[in-house]
Amino acid sequence: MPEVDTFRPEPGTLRTRDEIPDKYKWDLGSICPDWDEWTAAYKRLEVAVDAFPAFQGTLAAGPDQLLAAFRAMDDMGALSYRVWYFAALHYDEDQRDNDINARRQQVQILFARQQQSSSWFNPELLAIPFETIRGWLDARADLSMYRFAIDSLFHEQEHVLDKDGERLLSYAGRFNSVPHDSYAALTTADMKFPSITLSTGEHVTLSYGQYRAILETNRHQEDRAAAYRTFHGAYAGNQNTYAALYNGVLQRDWFHARARNYVSTLDAALHGNNIPPAVVENLIAVTRQGVEPLRRYHRLRRRVLGVDTYKLFDVFVPLVEHDVRYPYDEVGAWIVESVAPLGPEYQREVRRSLEERWIDVFENAGKRHGAYSAPVYGAHPYMLLNYNETLDAVFTLAHEIGHSMHTLLAHRTQPFVYAGYTIFVAEVPSTLNEALFLDFMLERATSRAERTLLLQHAIDSIAGTFYTQVLFADFELQAHRLVEQDRPVTAETLNEAFRTLIRDYYGDAIDDEAVSAVTWARIPHFFSTPYYVYQYATCFASTARLMQDLRASDPARRDDAVARYLSLLRAGGSDYPMTLLARAGVDLSRPDTVHAVCAELDALVERLEKELLG
Ligand SMILES: [Zn+2]
Repeated sequence: MPEVDTFRPEPGTLRTRDEIPDKYKWDLGSICPDWDEWTAAYKRLEVAVDAFPAFQGTLAAGPDQLLAAFRAMDDMGALSYRVWYFAALHYDEDQRDNDINARRQQVQILFARQQQSSSWFNPELLAIPFETIRGWLDARADLSMYRFAIDSLFHEQEHVLDKDGERLLSYAGRFNSVPHDSYAALTTADMKFPSITLSTGEHVTLSYGQYRAILETNRHQEDRAAAYRTFHGAYAGNQNTYAALYNGVLQRDWFHARARNYVSTLDAALHGNNIPPAVVENLIAVTRQGVEPLRRYHRLRRRVLGVDTYKLFDVFVPLVEHDVRYPYDEVGAWIVESVAPLGPEYQREVRRSLEERWIDVFENAGKRHGAYSAPVYGAHPYMLLNYNETLDAVFTLAHEIGHSMHTLLAHRTQPFVYAGYTIFVAEVPSTLNEALFLDFMLERATSRAERTLLLQHAIDSIAGTFYTQVLFADFELQAHRLVEQDRPVTAETLNEAFRTLIRDYYGDAIDDEAVSAVTWARIPHFFSTPYYVYQYATCFASTARLMQDLRASDPARRDDAVARYLSLLRAGGSDYPMTLLARAGVDLSRPDTVHAVCAELDALVERLEKELLG
C-alpha cells in the first residue's frame, strides 16, 4: 500500500522530528544499518589507520609496494566516508543530541590521527625520481590508474622549497590565520549590531539576517535606506582596522607567492588546479564589456518600482507581490520533468533520489539550517533541506539534486581516488539543473505575476552569482596588485577602488551612495579565502555555455551536448578542471564562453520588460 498521508509545513510552527512522516525524512540505512554496524566500521577504520604507517619506507622499493600503499589509502578513505557521514548526518537531524555529537567528534579525532599516520606518504612519494615512477606507470596497468594523482602531486611539488625553506615557511604558517581570525572576531564576537527604527515604529537590531530581510522584503525605501546606511556605517566606523587586517591578508599572500617563486599572488592561487591566470583576467575583461544587460535590468527596476533615486538598497526588493506556495508533493514531478533534456537515465536517477528517501525535506526542532548535498561514498548522495514551499526552496531542491547527480555519476564511474570533484566544476551541475527548471517553469506559468517572479529569480541569480562575484574578483585582483607593486593599502585606497568598481559595473543605472564604498569590509571571503569567489562566476559561465547547446534547435547538437555533459559529471576529479570542462565543450579562456552569461541575461531582461511594460 502506498503511503497516503501528506505533510505541509505551517509558517510559524516548528515541528518535532517525530511529527513528520517518514517518507519526508532521509533513510541513513544505506550508509550503515544501525549504530552497532557503525561502531564496527569505526573500529575497522581505527585498525586501518594504525596499520598504515607500516608502509612507510617501502614506496621506493617498487611498483607493487607503491600500489599496495595507494590501495590501503583508498580503502581507508572510502571507509571514512561512511563512518563520518553516518554520524554527521544523524547529528544534523537534531543538533541538540549530545550523544551523537560526541560520536561525531570521536570521528574528527580519528581523522586527525589518520592525517598524522599518512602525512609521510606524499613526501616519500615525491622523493622517488619522477622518471622511475613514470616507468612503473607505463609498465603496470593496475598502477597506471593513479597516473593523474601522481602527476598532480609532482605538479604541486614544482613550488615546494628545500627542507630549510619549508621549515621556515612552516614557522610562518602560524601567522597565516591571524588576519582572518581577527576579522572573524571583529565581525561576530565583538560586533555590536546597530539598531534602527522602521517607519512602522518597530525597533530592529541589524544582524546580517535582519538586514537582508529588510532589503529583500521591505517595500518602504526609507526603511531600506536606513538599514543599509546603518549596517554599512557600522563597518565604516572601523574601516581603518578592516583595512589593516585586509592588508595583512594581502601581504601574507604576496609573501607566500614570492617565497614559493610565483610571479604573482594570482599565479600562486591558481597553480594547484592548473588554471591559467588568463582565465580570471578574461572573465573580468569580458564581464566589464558585458555590463549593459545588468544596467538595463536596473533601469527597468527603477521604472517599475517608481522611485526617483535608485540605489544599492533597492536592488533586491521583489517587483511584484505574488505569494504562491509550492507544496513539496507537487514539485518533485516537475523537477523530474524539467531534466528531461538530459535523457531518460538522468531522469530516472533524479526520480530515485526523490522517491527512495535520499532527502530530509522539512525543518524540525534542532535540525541544521540551510541546504546541502552530502557525497557519501559507498552509499548514495543525501540531501538536507529546510523546505518551506517558497520559490527559492524549489530552486534550492533543483540545485542540490544537481550536486547529487554529479556525485552519483562520478562515484559510480570513477575509482575512489578520483570520485571527488573540485569547486571549480562543482557549481556547474547545480546551476544547470536550476536553469533547466527555470525553462520548465516559465513554460508552464500561466499568470504574468508568476512569470515575473520566475524571471526576477533567474535574473537576480545571474546578477548575484555572476556579476557581483566578478566585481569581487576584480576587487581582489586590484587589491593584491597594490601590494605586488609596493603601493600603500589604506581604507581610502580600498574605498576608492570599490567606489570605482561600482561605477564601472553599474554606470548611472544605480545612483551613488557614499557608504557603499566600504562594502569590501563586510565580505568574509576576502578575508578567509582570497581568489575563491571567481569560481562561482566561471561555473555560471560554463553552465550558460552548456545551456546554449542544450537549448539548440538542432537535435544532433543537443544529443552531442548531453553526451559531453554527462561525461563531465562521470569524470569526477579524474583530471584538471579546465581539461574536464574543455572535453565538455567549455573553454573558459575564450571570451564567448563568458559572454554567454551576458547574452542570457540580456534575453531574460528583454522577456521581463515585455511582461512588465507590455
Ligand atoms: Zn551548490
